[in-house]
Amino acid sequence: MLTLNGIGASPGTVEGTLFCYHRKVYSGPSRPVGSPEQERERFRAAIRQADKQLRQLFQDTVSDADEDCAQVFEIHRMMLEDQDYLQAVEELIGKGNKGVESAVEEAARIFSNTFLSMDSAYMQARSADVIDVSLRLLRILRGEEEKPLTLPYPVILAADDLCPSETVQLDKKKLIAIVTAEGSRNSHTAILAKTMGIPAVVRLGDVITDEMHGKHAAVDGSSGTLWIEPTEEICRLIHEKTMDLDERRQQLMQYKGLPSVSRDGVSVKLFANVGSLEDCEAAVENDAEGIGLFRTEFQYLSASACPGEEELFRLYRNALQTMDGRPVIFRTLDIGADKQAPCLPLPPEENPAMGMRAVRLCLTRTELLRTQPRALYRASAFGRIAIMVPMIASVWEMQEIRKAASSVCRDLGAEGLAYNPNVPLGTMIETPAAALISADLAKEADFFSIGTNDLTQYTLAADRQNGSIHLFYDARHPAVLRLIRMAAESGAKAGIPVGICGDLAADLTMTDFFLASGITSLSVPASMILPLRERVRSLTVGGWEPDLNKTSGRG
Ligand code: PEP
Ligand code: MG
Repeated sequence: MLTLNGIGASPGTVEGTLFCYHRKVYSGPSRPVGSPEQERERFRAAIRQADKQLRQLFQDTVSDADEDCAQVFEIHRMMLEDQDYLQAVEELIGKGNKGVESAVEEAARIFSNTFLSMDSAYMQARSADVIDVSLRLLRILRGEEEKPLTLPYPVILAADDLCPSETVQLDKKKLIAIVTAEGSRNSHTAILAKTMGIPAVVRLGDVITDEMHGKHAAVDGSSGTLWIEPTEEICRLIHEKTMDLDERRQQLMQYKGLPSVSRDGVSVKLFANVGSLEDCEAAVENDAEGIGLFRTEFQYLSASACPGEEELFRLYRNALQTMDGRPVIFRTLDIGADKQAPCLPLPPEENPAMGMRAVRLCLTRTELLRTQPRALYRASAFGRIAIMVPMIASVWEMQEIRKAASSVCRDLGAEGLAYNPNVPLGTMIETPAAALISADLAKEADFFSIGTNDLTQYTLAADRQNGSIHLFYDARHPAVLRLIRMAAESGAKAGIPVGICGDLAADLTMTDFFLASGITSLSVPASMILPLRERVRSLTVGGWEPDLNKTSGRG
């Protein structure tokens, strides 16, 4: 038996056959290099051909009713229009007698390394897209056909890494786990595995060899372990773990359809946090009572051009239709700091977390206060929608947002387009300032949603991205809890709902504190809805008074 350790990227355990896959590696041109102009012309022809292929792949995947997956091809097509990338290849051609293939390879290396060196895990994962689209160009330049990876029967797929286009084209029925040498927790591979609910381990390193192909293997996606030819003992343990997980999942099913109410009648709405249509489907499957946070910036982070009104409108409308009458709270763009979007390049800042992000960006670049709000208000004719604004620190910011919303409604009305004029407009409480002035903000907001991730970062002056200070980043710090309490009290006095959508909402040791504080909704990852409902239903909140000097809930 061989035990290999990587990073657990999607939980679950499974046993099965290992299927090793190596992407073809290209090396240097095998033909005489032409003049720089001839090579550039070949490059432009390859771009045109790739554009055609990607449009076709997009269409085919949309017709398979997989619009979310199809987006990968649209993103790649937009990458082919990226002026920086195009210019880099054209400039590399001719340098040191470089042909087009070598120039594409080098540009892929440069751009993928740039993405990898970024702080944000999300941006790091974009390096896979650059490599993917460059491989497509190389295939075209060499006249090779694109052969989608075909799996013979349900297998554990082992690969160096999977390109986004490869993951999208995989036959999901034949995939029971994914293990990769490279990748990250945030990579397409991890996202695909989590969405499919199968285990995944990434970053195993250069240890998976072709001799392992076809061998029996076991995977634990929580601990990040891969066993090749596991012993009977390991198989037994894996089997037990799988049974336990299945049993737990089964046991949680009994909470589907039940009200989220404590033993003594305190009720709370349990919503899901999402970033895509697929996430909305998972929310429905897990019996979420609505969406408490739709992170709308995700559609911008992966695009090289800002999505247009029509595209956004279709996405928002589809989300509302998927939620089938349940409410959906869309958060306006939260770009900046750790979430940089190539389509909205921001000048470098000394302190980006305290700089041009979220509502500040929208109030500065006023075109952002038109496209997305227009799409949201148009979608409001198709379901129960609410809009909330991130990073509010002052009352005037909310007032400006209200003015922009009214102006959008006026325009839509004048154009004869349907919209709901009474969409609730909420404030995120994620700066200490917002919590401290929550009584004033409650006059401008129809609801509050507390973002504990940022509220913790700004209250404790502890960067949420910096792993080395995780000891100092404590979302259960008494200062954070007092601010939560303060916002909840202001909301209750003004008669508006107060929810929590930061990660702390899913901390089951805090549920009694939240209920006792008058929090009206908790928004968590879909997989946490049923465990949270189980917790709520087990509690007696009564007149419990939390000790705000302790750093955790009651226990
Ligand atoms: C938060 O800050 O708690 C939050 C929900 O927003 P995000 O994590 O997207 O910044
Ligand atoms: Mg936040």
